[in-house]
Amino acid sequence: MVIKNIGQHAIIIGASMGGLLAARALTDYYQQVTLLEQDIFPAPGLNRKGVPQDRHTHGLLAKGREVLEHFFPGITQELEAKTAVIGDVLQLSRWFAEGGYLQRNYSGLKGILVSRPLLEAQVRQRLLTLPNVKVIENCNVLGLVATEDHTRVTGVRLKHQGNSNAEEILNAELVVDASGRRSLSPVWLETLGYEKPHEKQVKVNISYTTRIYSRQPEHIQGDQAVIVTASYPSWRSGVLLAQEQEHWIVSIGGYFSDRAPTDEQGFLEFAKSLPTPDIYEVIKDAEPLSEPTLYKFPSSQRRCYEKLKRFPQGYLVFGDAICSFNPVYGQGMTITALEAIALQDCLSKGSQNLARRFFQAASKVVDIPWSMAVDGDLRIPQVQGKRSLMVRFINWYIGKLQVAAQQDLKVAIAFTKTVNLIAPPATLFSPWIVFRVLLGNLLQAKTAN
Ligand SMILES: Cc1cc2nc3c(=O)[nH]c(=O)nc-3n(C[C@H](O)[C@H](O)[C@H](O)COP(=O)(O)OP(=O)(O)OC[C@H]3O[C@@H](n4cnc5c(N)ncnc54)[C@H](O)[C@@H]3O)c2cc1C
Repeated sequence: MVIKNIGQHAIIIGASMGGLLAARALTDYYQQVTLLEQDIFPAPGLNRKGVPQDRHTHGLLAKGREVLEHFFPGITQELEAKTAVIGDVLQLSRWFAEGGYLQRNYSGLKGILVSRPLLEAQVRQRLLTLPNVKVIENCNVLGLVATEDHTRVTGVRLKHQGNSNAEEILNAELVVDASGRRSLSPVWLETLGYEKPHEKQVKVNISYTTRIYSRQPEHIQGDQAVIVTASYPSWRSGVLLAQEQEHWIVSIGGYFSDRAPTDEQGFLEFAKSLPTPDIYEVIKDAEPLSEPTLYKFPSSQRRCYEKLKRFPQGYLVFGDAICSFNPVYGQGMTITALEAIALQDCLSKGSQNLARRFFQAASKVVDIPWSMAVDGDLRIPQVQGKRSLMVRFINWYIGKLQVAAQQDLKVAIAFTKTVNLIAPPATLFSPWIVFRVLLGNLLQAKTAN
């Protein structure tokens, strides 16, 4: 490993997927990287308090898997050895949208179905094999330490959550806040005399109710995933994904407080109300291995650090602390991975103006997935936001594209590449795809008559 020496010490607040991936990027440039995490890590595969979302379905997009392989070569195989399910993302899943299933066949996109706790534990294990990285658990970061003139962050104030109440200061040349959506960076910046970043909120009030079941080979004819996307009129959605140890994870829910109940009967009834019976058919007889758990997600949230005119040196914000997306689009972990690539790229050019350069690069990473999520949510009448002519057209077109993709494998592959962040959305508007979408819808209308 070549360490291009930018500094002696970097600190990361939070050791979830964002923190771990930021750490991986920094290990090539700092002599020592220290992750500070408020939780104590459980045994691999078990849930932890600081990431309550880890009890719920986490799909890793094909792009995210690619980036994980770039940082940790061989990690896909390591997870497979731990019984995670590997396969072609289109071939192994039943994707239901606009009243039908997308065509399925080999798409060339490799996917991995694994629980969030196991994925995170494996990434953490690989990271900690690097000689210049360490993690301090059970340690709560309370605030930043800065130079007298507040132009540079020089470390953090922290408290070990054991017996002692004593606060401690840990110094570093770079501090990265990867403490998630509830990050205190806006408050900490204000305390140092900086402006808070402008914050965009798009309220969706969605909920996930999740339960684990035992997976049997005969379930859904051996397929490994069912994805039911939200559509008119109920806007309810659901996923059933194969996981390690012959488990299924099932998350079902709706927008604007339309919640799947946590009692057995209510959960089943909600699953039955989805526009395709596949999930219900599996779980009505499968053996449950957990109680249903509810998660409420209020809004997609984006903090525009790239727009700030002043920002202290020696400080960055990362991952969900910048942008936290409606999770139904499954983008969060992949975006943190892409931000880690952006961070590596910025560091390869030195540490001057690092914050400005990184926030610009991160905003480019976030822009398209943010539009995909927010514009997609604007299909739902209660979601507030500007429905420009362009947004209406795009949502109309994507609906038609999904109809065409039910018959046309090439359209289905183009769609799958886009939602997996392998190809930009613009590819869905190439003349070749537009033609196939029009043709597909014409043929479908003809058959319906
Ligand atoms: C219900 C739900 C489902 C999701 N599904 C998907 C999905 O299918 N696919 C996908 O890619 N993404 C999904 N996501 C998003 C994904 O979970 C996040 O994008 C991902 O975890 C990266 O976030 P992060 O590391 O930036 O923050 P987080 O995961 O929130 O982690 C923050 C970390 O910081 C620690 N911390 C916080 N404050 C402090 C402090 N003061 N001191 C020390 N430590 C601190 C926390 O304990 C935690 O470990 C989902 C999110 C939710 C809510």
